[in-house]
Amino acid sequence: KLQAAVPGSKPIPTILGPNTIPEPSKALNDRVAVLRGDITTIAADAIVNAANRSLLGGGGVDGAIHRAAGSGLYDECKTLNGCPTGSAKITDAYALHCRKIIHAVGPVYDPIRHERSEEKLIGCYNRSLELAVEHNCRTIAFSGISTGIYGYPSREAAPAALSAVRKFLTGKNGKKIDKVIFVTFERKDVDAYDEAIPLYFPPV
Ligand code: ADP
Repeated sequence: KLQAAVPGSKPIPTILGPNTIPEPSKALNDRVAVLRGDITTIAADAIVNAANRSLLGGGGVDGAIHRAAGSGLYDECKTLNGCPTGSAKITDAYALHCRKIIHAVGPVYDPIRHERSEEKLIGCYNRSLELAVEHNCRTIAFSGISTGIYGYPSREAAPAALSAVRKFLTGKNGKKIDKVIFVTFERKDVDAYDEAIPLYFPPV
């Protein structure tokens, strides 16, 4: 449920609607967490990789996940025929501590077509959450999709991620997810979540 924003308050961008602020909910707030660290060490049911359209590995977090998971992951990814931008595919986790890896393909940030970038980024979060539910993954850890090599400013990506997750958790399949963990890696990601969390998950 959303309330009208109080006049003069900071507008909430993205899919929650321009002039709304989310109603504080302890139950909802308890289901999200921000954690600074290396996503390859997280024992959630599913972790979300920031992949590219080939799904065959790359730099950044993608490279770290492939190295840590082992060559079985590459072999499975070869059978997937890639993935379009704004969507995701799921694999087993091999040597990692999680049960599944969701490979989301974020957009390369386009500052001119900013809304299109946001639509694609939100698509990644939605599809990843749907895949988690389909595969009975009740805890899911997201890396900062697109905020590395793909150039999406962390301060714009965090609100998009948080609004998509809030909307999913309050939607028809939301009860099938117990915990969403945003794994931040660099200072800029930590700052972006620290700033945006109180807007999307206001303290009770
Ligand atoms: P993209 O190509 O989608 O931008 P990157 O891998 O370059 O993906 O960056 C995505 C985010 O993942 C960045 O915020 C980066 O700091 C972070 N990152 C890089 N390595 C790791 C890791 N081992 N664990 C968690 N996050 C990581």
